[in-house]
Amino acid sequence: MTADPAILGLAHVGIAVHSLDPAVAAWSRLGFTLESTEILESMHLRIAFLRGGSSLLELLEPTSPESTVSRFLERRGEGIHHLSFLVPDIDAALRHASEVGLDLVDKTPRSGSHGTRIAFLHPRSLGGVLVEFCERRTP
Ligand code: ZN
Repeated sequence: MTADPAILGLAHVGIAVHSLDPAVAAWSRLGFTLESTEILESMHLRIAFLRGGSSLLELLEPTSPESTVSRFLERRGEGIHHLSFLVPDIDAALRHASEVGLDLVDKTPRSGSHGTRIAFLHPRSLGGVLVEFCERRTP
């Protein structure tokens, strides 16, 4: 059995911020354009997507101390929070990651922004980098 390509490409870079507005302003000065904002209740986050060419940034502002991003900000301050990779089949991607011995944060996918399905791998498996799988819903 050969696996299909596991990774299609970088979906976005997730960046933890204390407050969206000044962060959006800063990245806009660099040439990024605000594409959308969204509240993700399940993860206690306000999210802004910014586009620069083919690159997408996801700014993450916690709306509650319960948010894992709040804990991240306390420990490490603002900065890169995760890399999100586009996968064709998130269930298969999670199965594969588990089979090759990577630690999963999410054993089953959760709902992400824009109707995506997402799941996180544990940073201890990948040199301290939090990796997100992202499967886009096909219309
Ligand atoms: Zn993300």
